[in-house]
Amino acid sequence: MSEFPTTARIVIIGGGAVGASCVYHLAKMGWSDCILLEKNELTAGSTWHAAGNVPTFSTSWSIMNMQRYSTELYRGLGEAVDYPMNYHVTGSIRLAHSKERMQEFERAAGMGRYQGMPIEILNPAETQERYPFLETHDLTGSLYDPHDGDIDPAQLTQALAKGARDMGAQILRFTPATGISRENGEWIVHTEKGDIRCEYVVNAAGYYAQRVGEWFKPHGGRTVPMMVMSHQYLLSEEVPEIETYTKETGHKLPLLRDVDSSYYLRQEKHGFNLGPYERNCKGHWMTPNDPMPDDFSFQLYPDDLERIEWYIEDAMARVPLLGTSGVSRVINGPIPYAPDGLPLIGPMPGVPNAFEACVFTFGIAQSGGAGKVLAEWVVEGQTEWDMWSVDPRRYTDYTDQDYCDQKGMEVYGHEYAMHFPWHEWPAGRNKKLSPLHSRLQDAGAQFGAYNGWERANWFAQAGDDTSEESTQTWDRAGPWERRIREECEAVRDNCGILAITGFSRYHVTGRGAREFVDGLTASRLPKPGRISLAYFPDNRGRILTEMSVMAWSEEEVGLITAATAQWHDMEILTRQAPEGITITDNTKEMECLLVTGPNARKILEPITEGHDLSASWLSISMEGTVAGNKCALARVSFAGELGWEIHCAIDAAPAIWDAITDAGAKPFGMWALNSLRIEKGYRAWKGDLSTDYSLLEGGLERFVKLDKEVDFPGKAAMLAEKQQGVANRFVTLTVDAGACDAPYMSTLWQGDEVVGETTSGAWGYRVNTSIALGMLRTDLAVPGTEIEVEIYGQRHKAVVQEDQPLWDPTNARLRA
Ligand SMILES: Cc1cc2nc3c(=O)[nH]c(=O)nc-3n(C[C@H](O)[C@H](O)[C@H](O)COP(=O)(O)OP(=O)(O)OC[C@H]3O[C@@H](n4cnc5c(N)ncnc54)[C@H](O)[C@@H]3O)c2cc1C
Repeated sequence: MSEFPTTARIVIIGGGAVGASCVYHLAKMGWSDCILLEKNELTAGSTWHAAGNVPTFSTSWSIMNMQRYSTELYRGLGEAVDYPMNYHVTGSIRLAHSKERMQEFERAAGMGRYQGMPIEILNPAETQERYPFLETHDLTGSLYDPHDGDIDPAQLTQALAKGARDMGAQILRFTPATGISRENGEWIVHTEKGDIRCEYVVNAAGYYAQRVGEWFKPHGGRTVPMMVMSHQYLLSEEVPEIETYTKETGHKLPLLRDVDSSYYLRQEKHGFNLGPYERNCKGHWMTPNDPMPDDFSFQLYPDDLERIEWYIEDAMARVPLLGTSGVSRVINGPIPYAPDGLPLIGPMPGVPNAFEACVFTFGIAQSGGAGKVLAEWVVEGQTEWDMWSVDPRRYTDYTDQDYCDQKGMEVYGHEYAMHFPWHEWPAGRNKKLSPLHSRLQDAGAQFGAYNGWERANWFAQAGDDTSEESTQTWDRAGPWERRIREECEAVRDNCGILAITGFSRYHVTGRGAREFVDGLTASRLPKPGRISLAYFPDNRGRILTEMSVMAWSEEEVGLITAATAQWHDMEILTRQAPEGITITDNTKEMECLLVTGPNARKILEPITEGHDLSASWLSISMEGTVAGNKCALARVSFAGELGWEIHCAIDAAPAIWDAITDAGAKPFGMWALNSLRIEKGYRAWKGDLSTDYSLLEGGLERFVKLDKEVDFPGKAAMLAEKQQGVANRFVTLTVDAGACDAPYMSTLWQGDEVVGETTSGAWGYRVNTSIALGMLRTDLAVPGTEIEVEIYGQRHKAVVQEDQPLWDPTNARLRA
């Protein structure tokens, strides 16, 4: 027997499809000095009992990208690693029962085509041609995805493991990790067979990820946000008609998903595999009297067919052939769920040299792409595609177990639900409330959650329909539209007030604090007494984040950033901070009120003391009061009007709010702010600003100071990019939109050619047109150029605008 290895560069804990893909991709990137630890046999977790469906469909660009990569990998994997496996690319059909569902399909088909997948939209008759055993009388149509299929999950895992072994990686089965410790900047992974010293660790422990995650808590970690759902599928006995069909056509039936009823139905040998995501779903291991066992390898939960009876009947009505056979087997196994149903892939929050690739709900479909993303994170410290949708840092301290349980149940029960832009999911709400909450409620606020904080999206008036049903539309029109218009008009003509609760804010102090921040950004830091935007590139010159900076002195810098960026941006700072620099997060203690509109000064003047309201745009004033409460004023407005952000202690906010609203300012919400900022061409983080784009593509040159004395990440890359010229440019487009504005990642066309994509879109109520921001091929990024934007399957004329704000291009109103 070979000796137990005591060192490695990296240890991966967990040998399911995901862990195997991580080790395979790490080895492929040259990191073959890696060890995978599996407590039992490979695939002992969720992987062994998975149905093995491998969809590419998603309405998220990055998830679709990851799944597309998986299908491409799986097609060639058997041959590449010399491990033959069963992978059937059967195509799939998703059924639509409504116009809104067809719009969702059109959108996904558009993204799919952009990614090179010939996804088709079918009418009911065409659908039946592809699936002859189907009842179609009540359908609106369907989506056909030619790349969908099913794979044997165990063979997939073994193939990835073989590939990794062949490249030199070690896979240790029946070797549970039992704990970790840290010594001299190295990890020591403990096992019953001995310790392994390594530089990096990956938690790929599937539904055990929370347990493994606990070991990292003494090293800065947090509880892994997850819960475990029970998911069942049943296998039918053989159906002679399916056997005949397969023989006659030479292929299997396409995989069927009735997403409105909520199940998948797949051909398994010559029978069926039916798997529902039932509303009346069941979580497991959630209470003290149902504890998670120490070992659940190769085990299942007891069958519970009663729970899915409605779905079985619905499927039998849809495909009557299903009713001709009996049930041969039921599989009921654990699936881990993060609160949004997406996995955790990337740096472990707060912990150095530790990563996560766990909590996969669709880990068979996603393991290929996940391995690539994880390996890039480890080896290069960054990923090819922007993967914020699965970044573990998207969750912060509000994700307690109650939240995870509620959200997991909600997501599972609505696994195939449409995610309308006006709909806020109700579970797990009110995690963080500002003391202003009751005032906002009284004013009619309809709330949305932003990093757990409740903020007003819009303010309903008496008689407005605020039901969940009213939000089930992609259209701009709805009860909110009139109110958004009124809120925008109040900001344009008078004064509005918005509580930007939960703005993330950090205080960087210590000798050389200014120099330290300066060395991370491509932008020039402002002088004391001023505020400015700063852009933080990665070392490829791509947009990591944007923060507002106040550089008080050489030893004190304040930074403000998006609520959702709280842990992401904190890590940009802490991971690189030299000794002597302290970074504190003051998010919880502070509130921000944006008071903006041409009458903002008039409203503030009588209640403000000590602050100079005539000070210029982008000035900040620290000493003074509003309504008798100490606060700082920053003369900036994301709405693009005369205005100030009032930064005050969170408890002082109600008194300031009362004084300002009593003086006539109208409360407005985040949806109005979105419209107002788009009219100014102001970018939003992780829509317009992401690592999918470089700062230069993003049109941020005026914030990029390549001649800065200090070096900063991405400087060399940007210099080279500047010399070569960028392939794509950020543009503002006006759109002859119909009922809907362009959502994120709508395709831009010129003739039959894809020439770019939108990064955000909204109606502009001050300029009365639909606006999209986006990335366009550079040669077309010329004002006046006409192109088309595809919005839910329909092409609409769009015109490239001047490189300046549509509203108030000279910023005269801001400077008033
Ligand atoms: C009934 C059912 C059907 C499904 N169908 C599909 C489908 O059709 N398509 C799809 O994409 N997904 C499907 N899934 C989900 C899929 O099974 C999971 O997302 C996927 O298997 C997760 O893979 P993983 O590698 O992350 O986790 P796992 O497969 O759970 O692997 C984690 C591994 O870590 C090991 N481990 C844990 N702790 C330790 C430790 N301390 N030391 C060493 N090893 C440890 C475990 O033994 C386990 O082998 C289904 C799930 C269920 C329950």
